[in-house]
Amino acid sequence: MRLVLLGPPGAGKGTQAKILVDSYSIPQLSTGDMLRAAIADKTPLGLEAKAIVDRGDLVSDDIVSGIISDRMDQADCANGFILDGFPRTIAQAESLTHMLDRKGLHLDAVVEIKADPDTLVSRVINRAKESGGARADDNEEVLRKRLDVYKEQTAPLVTFYTEQGLLKSVDGMAPIDEVTAAIKAAIE
Ligand code: AMP
Repeated sequence: MRLVLLGPPGAGKGTQAKILVDSYSIPQLSTGDMLRAAIADKTPLGLEAKAIVDRGDLVSDDIVSGIISDRMDQADCANGFILDGFPRTIAQAESLTHMLDRKGLHLDAVVEIKADPDTLVSRVINRAKESGGARADDNEEVLRKRLDVYKEQTAPLVTFYTEQGLLKSVDGMAPIDEVTAAIKAAIE
């Protein structure tokens, strides 16, 4: 099974990906996790990506497409994978199509986890108010930036994958287990 999880930051892609990893015994490929690991390890990629990730912008399409293509060639991806956070632009989606073609593979489904952006922001603001602290405003600001980036650069993928007949949408505001059930019903 080769799946893409699509949705705004905070919608629960990572949470759902981890549950689906156990159900289907295929790995989660998260470009966000890979970039954070590179940043923590201070690799050349991490040093280049840090400022971009910290301000909520997107790392270049070529960089993320390259790391995903390499990761897919590893043995644990033989039976499939769950893409979490990639693709995030039309250029990345086209690059994904080409890399899968080259490998003789195809996507089985793209699942959009729908979430209301205002609810995502207000959740974070409330959490920030409750916990206090100097970084709270920074977090809210970066989250708003990431939501804007999602709207502008990633949301067009919904149309892109609808046209390819691959898109399934689920309500991401439901409880976690209900979202999981809806995803499984959509892809099986
Ligand atoms: P995530 O954990 O998926 O929310 O990603 C965290 C951050 O990593 C994003 O805000 C981007 O700065 C960067 N990032 C992750 N995936 C991608 C991608 N596919 N394309 C560009 N930047 C990405």
